[in-house]
Amino acid sequence: MTAVSLGIPAVPPRGFGNISELEPFPKYAKRELGNAQQRRNLTHATHTIRDKRLKVVSELPDWEALRDAGSAIKTEAMERLPELLAQFEEQFTARGGTVHWARDAAEANRIVEELIRAAGPDETGPDENSGATEVVKVKSMATQEIGLNEYLEERGIAAFETDLAELIVQLGHDKPSHILVPAIHKNRTEIRDIFLREMPGVDPDLTDEPRRLAMAARAHLRAKFLSARVAISGANFGIAETGTLGVVESEGNGRMCLTLPETLITVMGIEKVLPRAEDLGVFMQLLPRSSTGERMNPYTSLWTGVTPGDGPQNVHVVILDNGRTRALADRHGRSALHCIRCSACMNVCPVYERAGGHAYGSTYPGPIGAILSPLLTGIEAEENKSLPYASSLCGACFDACPVKINIPEILVHLRGEDVEERRSKPGARRLPSQFDLAMTGASWAMSDGARMGLLERGLPLGKAAAGRYGVISKLPGIGAGWTQSRDIPAPPAESFRQQWKKRDGSRPATDRPATEGESK
Ligand code: SF4
Repeated sequence: MTAVSLGIPAVPPRGFGNISELEPFPKYAKRELGNAQQRRNLTHATHTIRDKRLKVVSELPDWEALRDAGSAIKTEAMERLPELLAQFEEQFTARGGTVHWARDAAEANRIVEELIRAAGPDETGPDENSGATEVVKVKSMATQEIGLNEYLEERGIAAFETDLAELIVQLGHDKPSHILVPAIHKNRTEIRDIFLREMPGVDPDLTDEPRRLAMAARAHLRAKFLSARVAISGANFGIAETGTLGVVESEGNGRMCLTLPETLITVMGIEKVLPRAEDLGVFMQLLPRSSTGERMNPYTSLWTGVTPGDGPQNVHVVILDNGRTRALADRHGRSALHCIRCSACMNVCPVYERAGGHAYGSTYPGPIGAILSPLLTGIEAEENKSLPYASSLCGACFDACPVKINIPEILVHLRGEDVEERRSKPGARRLPSQFDLAMTGASWAMSDGARMGLLERGLPLGKAAAGRYGVISKLPGIGAGWTQSRDIPAPPAESFRQQWKKRDGSRPATDRPATEGESK
């Protein structure tokens, strides 16, 4: 066993790879909003999955207790991470597997390439020293994060995605736009067109019937499964107690990759480790219900090292940091590492539903991407600054998250960090902006009942400004940004407090001095 030290350095290294915006979120999102077909596809798909999820979640009377248990296990795992990773390595190695450690994307890619080369030539290689030139892949967020496919392609190794949606994205020279359903932005006619254009030997009379599309993909992939000598996977879980890795999936392509080739290489983020095998009992209930809206996953594969004569005989795991210790060092943001990549937060997010996944730039879109990407790179990385603002803070993501990650709270924390970082830059503007002044004024007024009451006396003015149509369509100064794309409804003639006073005949509790036993 190698010595492992995951003690948090003073300045933890940032992550690299496909975890950065290509351009600021508002700019990309504005363009995507013009794609009406994509918006229709997204609305249909997210609402379908959302309804299925609600149905299966409501079947469980102890759903909230399960969420609490999932959250508690993840908190424990993060607190004991160095010890658990060392235990995982010991167990995995004792059962015939090999553990490799990668600080960042570049190191992980290099390790995987070396392992593929060491696996020996395959049928398609140019000579016997070339090593394998084709590998099959199980859907994996970690390998997308590090840009493994692009890295291998540049070095003459073709990585074939075997998950149907990933295959569609790969053949379409596109990027995934959803964690679970990477081709969610495509409808079946668009998929048929991609297959006809890009899939070698496909039936030219292929229709957009889902069954025909699946049969075409199956025929295309089967040859790859049978010839590949190397498979690459991610991992949903790594069990420290036993050195076991686990992958859950729906199509059986994962099972083929995990059992047929001679060499199996798994890339796993450090945060995927769980203390005990029994912890799976919690996550195997939380994950399928939250992701695909199913009671259990069709395929759950668990493997522990090497079994002589059965399955892959060279089993490797590359344990990846790539900014995770940086996220772990942020005590407000570290719970983002609890994420089990179910995608429930995406399916309920009004911003994601309209902007789509590509607008986030990173491999991780939606609410979790808006916190995880800046945590991995650091908010000071220019390319991820706008992501924490890609949210209305409605809180739907927090309600849906099976491990109770308080995404809105982390978004606000990251926004605060961004503001502080801008202010600390040499030459930063010292005078308060219009926005600063407006917020300071609002804070002053709202923190005192009497001041708030005074402000509310201006409500009739707002009503008058709304005119006979009852909307305010143009505000001056920084307010203009708000009314640029929406109207403000006319304020009511009376505030809630004024109405309360009339109904109750007394002043609201906040205006009264506290009586004994009443806290204010
Ligand atoms: S943040 Fe929560 S809801 Fe979103 S993908 Fe992760 S586990 Fe699922």
